[in-house]
Amino acid sequence: MIFIDGTWLYTNTPRLSELANRKDYHIDFGKLPKVLGDKVAERIGADVDVVRTYLFGSYANNFDRRDADAVQRRLDFFNMLREEHHYEVETFPINFFGRRLRRIDREPGDNFEPREKCVDIALATNMLVQSYQQGFDIAIGLLGDLDFKPVLQEVRRAGRRVQLVSIRTSCAPEIADTADPQRIKDFDTIWLEDMVGPLELTYERHERSCESPNHEGDRMVWTTFRPRKGQRFYCDVCRAEFQQQKMEAIQEYVTEDGNYMPQEDLPTQTGEVKKKVADRGYGFIQAEDGYDYFFHLTDLEPGLDFLDVNEGMKVSFSVKRSPSPLKAGAAQLVRRLQTMSPGNMRDD
Ligand SMILES: [Zn+2]
Repeated sequence: MIFIDGTWLYTNTPRLSELANRKDYHIDFGKLPKVLGDKVAERIGADVDVVRTYLFGSYANNFDRRDADAVQRRLDFFNMLREEHHYEVETFPINFFGRRLRRIDREPGDNFEPREKCVDIALATNMLVQSYQQGFDIAIGLLGDLDFKPVLQEVRRAGRRVQLVSIRTSCAPEIADTADPQRIKDFDTIWLEDMVGPLELTYERHERSCESPNHEGDRMVWTTFRPRKGQRFYCDVCRAEFQQQKMEAIQEYVTEDGNYMPQEDLPTQTGEVKKKVADRGYGFIQAEDGYDYFFHLTDLEPGLDFLDVNEGMKVSFSVKRSPSPLKAGAAQLVRRLQTMSPGNMRDD
């Protein structure tokens, strides 16, 4: 079984393209479990069947909306692993209290430290429970942090073997130490940078039809982009246009002195999507207060695609403009109302 520190993986895989000295280098996460399994098999001289890959990570929540794209990229990454490659992904929110993600973008003197909650403990608990339930023989851990030392030692005491996988420039020295005085592993660490060849994601150029309702002209375009399962493909032009609209919408929240209006105090409402005007990119929500609220596709929370919004869908949202008996209100931060689904997105 493979256990992945998802935050470590997400922040450090870009280094592989630096180390491979290739900007366009990407890991094929579909191949990763098998490539690692084969490598371990070679070491122990027996077949290794990677049964499951667990990943534990975090994502920003309640952040300054100017960082929406960065947050979305990370959520997309986790969703891709879950949906395309059947990793068992568990993610936990980090509350940014309306702030920018990067310290450099925040007010000078703001000493806020984002804290990951639950992630390491969730990984450790899972690894321990599985090792005592005899769920695996070898735990392959993709991580860089020595916080995991106690659990690695304990897994070994439970009679399981530990194989660590990391990146030389992104790990605690003990992970690289072949003498292993801490007794945290059974094999020398596997270095991802030594495996860039077998792990490479290769693309082929192919023709594909743009599915944006705003597309102009011939829909067939050449691309190397492969949309994920169940996702629509937009050509570069339509993508850039969406991006532009989104940036314009975000400007509304920036005050004259360039500060961002905090939104955590805005009243929240729930309701149902009453009407969706797909080709114009907007719709209306009938809220539980009895009023209608307008929303544009740029008013959706990261993680909710306008194309996945359907009439009748239950949503919650923040009020951007209050309604009156004559005029609909306006919604922002529209998100799917969490129902009793077996999904793994957790809120605490
Ligand atoms: Zn298009």
